[in-house]
Amino acid sequence: MARKKHDLVVLGGGPGGYVAAIRAAQLGLDTACIDKEKALGGTCVRVGCIPSKALLEASEHYYEAKHHLGSFGVRITGVELDLPKMLAKKDAVVKANTQGVDFLFKKNKVSRYLGTGRFTDKGRVVVEGNGEPAELEAKHVLIATGSGVAKLRGVDFDGDRVGTSTEGLSYPEVPGHLVVIGAGYIGLELGSVWARLGAKVTVLEYLDRILPGMDTEIAAEALKVLKKQGLAFQLGAKVTGAGIQRGKCVVEVEGAAPVECDRVLVAVGRSPYTAGLGLDAIGLELDERGRIPVNEHFATAVEGVYAIGDVIRGPMLAHKAEDEGIACVEYLATGYGHVNYDAIPGVVFTNPEVASVGKTEEELREQGIAYKKGVFPYSANGRARALGATEGRVKILADRETDRVLGVHVLGARAGDLIAEATAAIEFSATAEDLARTCHAHPTLAEIVREAAFAVDGRAIHI
Ligand code: NAD
Repeated sequence: MARKKHDLVVLGGGPGGYVAAIRAAQLGLDTACIDKEKALGGTCVRVGCIPSKALLEASEHYYEAKHHLGSFGVRITGVELDLPKMLAKKDAVVKANTQGVDFLFKKNKVSRYLGTGRFTDKGRVVVEGNGEPAELEAKHVLIATGSGVAKLRGVDFDGDRVGTSTEGLSYPEVPGHLVVIGAGYIGLELGSVWARLGAKVTVLEYLDRILPGMDTEIAAEALKVLKKQGLAFQLGAKVTGAGIQRGKCVVEVEGAAPVECDRVLVAVGRSPYTAGLGLDAIGLELDERGRIPVNEHFATAVEGVYAIGDVIRGPMLAHKAEDEGIACVEYLATGYGHVNYDAIPGVVFTNPEVASVGKTEEELREQGIAYKKGVFPYSANGRARALGATEGRVKILADRETDRVLGVHVLGARAGDLIAEATAAIEFSATAEDLARTCHAHPTLAEIVREAAFAVDGRAIHI
């Protein structure tokens, strides 16, 4: 068995792990990264963010061609779906991204080990399984193993018709009726994909709202828009089981009639992935939700062992994991490294997109923080009209006393791009006045952000 010594060994090659490994190598640490999958990039690149966005884009083109382009005076007849080609395109996008990570590892001289990493002692990790076995010794070990799909009790997953987002990225045909369990990020994104391609989609959600954690008003408006697109919602529906009966998928809902369908997609959240890591061997204990406890520098209770991303507290988002990875290794190499948890955006890539950063109105009320609110609708923006994308609004919440931007919530076209400006504003402690005084190019959707900032002070121009 090969024996190697490194300054830093990173367990997991997802967005948290691979970004941390590259940054550590840039900072001069001899860095290795272990991943059990041949393709680097983790859930995000292989079976998450990237393939779902590829399908969202592709299905949107199809939907536009079928339903919207006529309104622009572009007459198209005989629009047809070529699903195998759409799926192949998605796979090609994934491949380009995973190969990109390989390239970056080579460029930055990050050693890559294929297999499952397991602690045998502090600072010692064995690599077993898929590739050449190896025994690694390292001063620092960073756990970035991410998360796995949270299973739902009573649901008989068959890896095909009753499955998770992984199956939902590759159905070989458009399901007649798809039931999605959970109206969170995954449920709404993949539900949108298959609805656009022609499936009847029913979303069953336990809560009385969609997108828990997002601003309530924006989530309620998103619900209306998605319903208009043909997605059916049953809110307050607690799913207690699902499986295949006499050739049909059947989903059991507490206190309601079972729902029959052709496929079931379970999207009820994710759980930290720590199985088989050998945490017992180093005496590292998990918290009550199976996460690895860390301090502000991502250090665990065991000296020399760190953790970032979905295995620790906080939102399970690729960009949050990336930021933590960079901050963690910068701290190791330089003594400085910081993540501002008040400025982590969240984006749901439905059409229109939903994006959010900072505090929601509910959080401000709960925390007793007095705020001002500025709202501006897409319908009053020239570019939005030209795009035929007039649904939605930007809402800015600013401190009543200081005018500092505390939260920005957007429903609308390219919300995921607009939220970058809002995130920068929060990061730099900007006021709504700062945003309003910043010149925004005309005609752009970004002007909606500016107008919402004007509206905080009751002086929006175009409404
Ligand atoms: P989620 O936490 O976003 O939503 C899960 C939903 O399932 C919730 O609304 C919850 O109330 C509901 N639910 C739970 N149990 C239920 C039951 N028994 N019956 C009916 N509904 C039930 O989780 P997700 O959509 O699975 O996504 C997982 C993670 O992946 C999230 O943490 C998310 O941050 C991340 N993700 C992010 C993006 C993005 O950034 N665009 C995209 C996909 C996934």
